[in-house]
Amino acid sequence: MADVHPIKAWDQYPWLSAGFSTRQGGATAVYGAPGEMNLGWTKEDDPAVVAENRACLVSLVTNDDLVGWQLVTMRQVHGNTVRVVVNDGSPLFTPEGKAVVEADGLTTNERGLMLGVQTADCVPVLLADTRLRAVAALHAGWRGTVARIAEHGVATMEREFGSRAEDLVAAIGPAIRRCCFAVGEEVRERFAAEFVYADDLFLKDAGQLYADLHMANQRQLIGVGLSPDAITTIAECSACSRAADGQRRYFSHRAERGITGRMMSVIGARTD
Ligand SMILES: [Zn+2]
Repeated sequence: MADVHPIKAWDQYPWLSAGFSTRQGGATAVYGAPGEMNLGWTKEDDPAVVAENRACLVSLVTNDDLVGWQLVTMRQVHGNTVRVVVNDGSPLFTPEGKAVVEADGLTTNERGLMLGVQTADCVPVLLADTRLRAVAALHAGWRGTVARIAEHGVATMEREFGSRAEDLVAAIGPAIRRCCFAVGEEVRERFAAEFVYADDLFLKDAGQLYADLHMANQRQLIGVGLSPDAITTIAECSACSRAADGQRRYFSHRAERGITGRMMSVIGARTD
């Protein structure tokens, strides 16, 4: 059975469907034990299996079938571009099912569009406007975080839809945490050049520097006006969290040296 993190703080919004996948459940057999939930078009996995896993995820998150939902993903490039998705009939996928849009954030105020961000250590950030029922999905690795993707996501919703920061809620998903995210001095220097609070985001232990991307994204969201109470963080590390059976709970690019699957974090407003 697939294991998807619901966002309990969002149970009060019945119009909203969202969740963070893990690697448990699904039909993937190429990354370890069979029955895993790879959601990316990786070169190792069978596209038919990935498509099945994606349909399973949307079905789980929405508690129903796929009728009325369209999953939209993007070609992620570690930048800070946030694209508005409109369901105007223009193609959102190639005939092979690959994403057309190149971006690191998607946002929409249309219902029935399930926005997805793929990660395997990077931070997925989901945003919802509880007044206007607009949503966003953001991809925040360290480069996207330095480039202020979370701030850009909020700013795009404000500009395009008239969202107000006080109406936004955020959910930050499983990602590589400070316990495992060893980085070089050059990463700290990049953050120090951008953020006055950069020192808070790094810890040096036994001569090794570690970065806290969860905190970095929380700080960005608070900095643009979200209340800390409006931010839910799934404080699990993609590189070292284990499921009850001892298997890795997440795909981790770092821990598995690049040969791994992808989680997907999704958010959408229901049509009913
Ligand atoms: Zn860890």
